[in-house]
Amino acid sequence: MVDTVRVRFAPSPTGALHIGGGHTALFNWLWARHTGGKFILRIEDTDRERSTQEYEETIMSGMRWLGLDWDEGPDTGGPYAPYRQSERLSLYRETADRLLREGKAYREGEAVIFKVPQGVSLAFDDVVYGQIQMLSDTLKDIVMIKSDGMPTYNYAAVVDDHAMEISHVIRGEDHISNTPKQLALYDALGWERPVFAHLPMILGKDKKKLSKRHGATSVYEYRDMGYMPDSVFNFLALLGWSPGDDLEIFSREEAAQMFDLSRVIKKPSVFDMDKLNHINQEHLKKLPPCERLALVEPFWREMGLPIDSHPREYLEASLTLLAGRGQTAREAAAYSDYFLDFGPVKERYESIEADGAQLEVLRRFNSELLALPEWNAEAMETFSREWSAANGVKMKDLAMPLRLCLTGMKVSPGVFEVAEHLGVREVRRRLEHYGVLQA
Ligand code: GLU
Repeated sequence: MVDTVRVRFAPSPTGALHIGGGHTALFNWLWARHTGGKFILRIEDTDRERSTQEYEETIMSGMRWLGLDWDEGPDTGGPYAPYRQSERLSLYRETADRLLREGKAYREGEAVIFKVPQGVSLAFDDVVYGQIQMLSDTLKDIVMIKSDGMPTYNYAAVVDDHAMEISHVIRGEDHISNTPKQLALYDALGWERPVFAHLPMILGKDKKKLSKRHGATSVYEYRDMGYMPDSVFNFLALLGWSPGDDLEIFSREEAAQMFDLSRVIKKPSVFDMDKLNHINQEHLKKLPPCERLALVEPFWREMGLPIDSHPREYLEASLTLLAGRGQTAREAAAYSDYFLDFGPVKERYESIEADGAQLEVLRRFNSELLALPEWNAEAMETFSREWSAANGVKMKDLAMPLRLCLTGMKVSPGVFEVAEHLGVREVRRRLEHYGVLQA
């Protein structure tokens, strides 16, 4: 058993934070938080041509969005700048010199190459995949430092994992094949190996490796679509791990408490949008009204709705009335637009499908409804029941046209709740517009 858990996420800044990278970062974070250990961010920017400062920044903001905070950096204090391999070149150089001196590496021009010893069994016990073994004879010699002076991934990762006292290397299963090479380096350097845990692949619903074809692949795209960071976190945590007892909805803190590296399964997991939608809906429901409003507001704004002409309490209550409708903030915004403005209702409204006779009935009913001494849903409900019984008209034949005039939709929260919330003046305005009040 290792005393202090120290884990790292080591992205190459050659693209945005993808689902796979976010997943790896998250499992490292969970393990650190579960054990009270440290989570380190190390930017592997040794590919000078493909690495950019911009990608580094997007990866970090993606991590911040998911709530994956890291605990260390080359500077003291914090919030920490990450470690960058490009700033650690002398360390790789010194270590390479040592292997050269010991005759375990050789030069080829400017490059330094590690001589893989023959006939050695390179075996490790992966936390997820179990025993994995390879004979060193199958490995070619390993380039450590390229002729441009930059270290290679396999070499720099070993030097850094050792220098940073990483206890557990948790990363994607695509690195299983690199592990024996890294083991050979650990052995040659006389360094203790970390524990390895490779995470299973993430597949699309068609069981093919996750790619653009399956939808958004970068973590940020989910933010822009209106997903909550808590639910993307929750969803990613369930790829390859589960807390058991069919528990599916949990917070970051709960996940950290329950997480166990030894419960990660090696079966590939499937990226299921329906599940993400369901999880997001559950997290949205749990939010206090002011936080829900903060999430939905940008989407209302994007739709051009007059947010600022309504009190905050009115806006919050509008979303509370939705009672969980809408799987994303974007959907919740779309399902509630009629509370903010009459415009979208007019755009959607087609017809109340009433012939002359019914129109007369609706006019009478609506006018009496508006004349109620008390403007609340309960009073409207009671009045409508009595009215429908007395006039031999079905409730739904009164409620549906009313709903269409107020919301422009066939499905909405209880129509009398909607009417109460809109207020009697706004309801009168909308009904007048459609000519369903008595002259
Ligand atoms: N830079 C490597 C990658 O992004 C890191 C792999 C590792 O965690 O060792 O795939």
